Amino acid sequence: MDKPDKSSGFAEVDRSIPTSLNQLYQEVILDHYRRPRNKTALEDATHSITLNNPMCGDVIELMLKVKKDRIIDAHYMGKGCSISQASVSMLTDQVKGKTLAEAHELAGKFTTMLHGDAELAKDKELGHLRALAGVSKFPVRIKCALLGWDCLESLIGENDRAQPQSQKRAQI
Ligand code: ZN
Repeated sequence: MDKPDKSSGFAEVDRSIPTSLNQLYQEVILDHYRRPRNKTALEDATHSITLNNPMCGDVIELMLKVKKDRIIDAHYMGKGCSISQASVSMLTDQVKGKTLAEAHELAGKFTTMLHGDAELAKDKELGHLRALAGVSKFPVRIKCALLGWDCLESLIGENDRAQPQSQKRAQI
C-alpha cells in the first residue's frame, strides 16, 4: 500500500487523527478520546495548571495530587482534538503512582519518541503512549500530543521552558 504524502491531505481529515497512522494505534487513540480516563476535577489537587495550544484550539487543565514526591492522583479537564485529549488521558493513567522524577523521565521519553526516536516507539514502559509514535511524522500534531506533557513538566518544575516554581495556577 502506498504511504500517503505527508505534505498534503490530512489537514482536511476531521482535524484529528492522521489517517496514515496504524489502525490499531488509531483505535487506541480513539478509545482514550471517547472514553477518557480520569477526566474529572480533582478536588484536593496540590498542583494544577491550564495550558492551551492556539494552533489547534486545544485546552488542557492538568491536576495532580502530590504527596512526598509521589503523584498519588492525576486528573484532567479539557477540550480539543483527539490527539491532545487522548495523550493527556494516557498521561494521567501512566503517571499515577510515579515519583516526580519518574514522571519527568517518562515525559522525556515520550517527547523524544514524538521527535522520531523509533526505539522508544517500542519501549513497553510507554504503554498506550506508543500509539502516538506515528504523530512524529506530523509536526503540526506534535504540539497537540505534547500539550498535557507541557502541563506536567510545568507543574513538576523541571522543564527549561517552564517557570521555576513547582506550583502555580495559570490564568484561564
Ligand atoms: Zn490539537
